[in-house]
Amino acid sequence: MRNKGVCVYPGSFDPVTLGHIDLIERASKLFPELVVAVLNNPDKHNLFTVEKRMEMLQKACSHLPNVKIDSFDGLLVHYMRSIQAEIVLRGLRAVTDFENEFQMAQVNRQIAPEIETLFLMTSPDYAYISSSAVRQVAAFGGDIATLVPQCIIQDVYQAYH
Ligand code: ADP
Repeated sequence: MRNKGVCVYPGSFDPVTLGHIDLIERASKLFPELVVAVLNNPDKHNLFTVEKRMEMLQKACSHLPNVKIDSFDGLLVHYMRSIQAEIVLRGLRAVTDFENEFQMAQVNRQIAPEIETLFLMTSPDYAYISSSAVRQVAAFGGDIATLVPQCIIQDVYQAYH
């Protein structure tokens, strides 16, 4: 029995931004259940541990009852199969996102044809926001209030002090 109602939004979320939250809020209205899945990639140097990234997501999504936070290692399609989910959500900010996302979606389709990737366009207000921009601004003590959810601002600054 396949779990058609579950959508998985995978990413690094290092840390979660207002752009991610906008996508999560919009997708949570489209699917009965949305799983935000933090990639545990030991090869990539992340600022926050997987546990901390999940904790920040949990706080920032506490107003959304059908959103669950999880993590995964290895291939996304293997994780999708393990929870019997068939829809992947990704966000598009600019044309520059397109090429990478297109390639990833095609590879996933080759190895797991039952899985569909859906894309939501960024809201113009958040198009310029990325986790790396948040890290840069926070590293120099800049104001990140317009970039990340209010409830995680302290967590982000604490990473640098
Ligand atoms: P990854 O390292 O997998 O790209 P990210 O946490 O950077 O993980 O992003 C996860 C997903 O969210 C990606 O599909 C990315 O394009 C999308 N995304 C990131 N920032 C925004 C934003 N401001 N608006 C819309 N989508 C976004």
